[in-house]
Amino acid sequence: MQHDSITPYKSDSEKHVQIAKMFDNISNKYDALNSILSIGIHKGWRKKCVNRLKILQPQHILDVATGTADFAIECSKLHPKKVIGIDISEGMLNIGRKKIQDKKLDTIISLQQSNAETADFTDSSFDAIVIGFGVRNFQNLEKGLTNLQRMLKPEGKLIILEFSFPKNTIVKWFYNFYLFKLTPFVGKLVSKDNRAYTYLAESIEAFPNNEKLVAILKNCGFTKASYNSLFFGVSAIYEASK
Ligand code: SAM
Repeated sequence: MQHDSITPYKSDSEKHVQIAKMFDNISNKYDALNSILSIGIHKGWRKKCVNRLKILQPQHILDVATGTADFAIECSKLHPKKVIGIDISEGMLNIGRKKIQDKKLDTIISLQQSNAETADFTDSSFDAIVIGFGVRNFQNLEKGLTNLQRMLKPEGKLIILEFSFPKNTIVKWFYNFYLFKLTPFVGKLVSKDNRAYTYLAESIEAFPNNEKLVAILKNCGFTKASYNSLFFGVSAIYEASK
């Protein structure tokens, strides 16, 4: 099945409407479930991504699909002038705003409701753009990536952190069990949303990862696109320039 036709609720609403509703539904439990299901490993992955931006010393950073703002908060460690986080789920943003306030980062980080595919920041306005576990949920992947390329400064860097699928047969067997059995069971139990964590598994399986996503990035106007696998290939960091 085509990745962009995988939707959470399989209803008539457009994908972005279903995605926003799903993340609104699970927003209160999102951070806890992330930590339970990844045994905290996801934090180290965001750190790795941010380390790749150190040399660039970005002053203006856009965190796309910021959710509860973990990536934006990690980016603030680079001492930028401004980090803007955008997301389509107001429920996720509200949790993020609270975390930013508690950490007294509200002079650096601001969050706003906006769709990556239609966000209208001026051309070439960000030194770096990051996206953690967001591109897989775009309604139109190419439209979203092309819009991000437009907003990136020349020589600016795009970093994508996204789940992928291991190639090794034995790892794949364990990952399939984890993704299609354990994750939906725990996810449903904790979040009370029947579909969110089944959608997670289905969307990861269908998403064009590794070399395929690199090719799509190049088609969307990015240069020097590459990827590195993390943790036996269950996730990957993609890096591209304008
Ligand atoms: N980046 C955060 C992190 O690393 O934990 C949150 C990731 S969460 C799995 C995915 C987020 O992407 C959700 O908050 C969802 O609302 C957002 N999202 C999905 N499609 C989007 C789009 N087209 N534009 C902006 N945000 C989007």
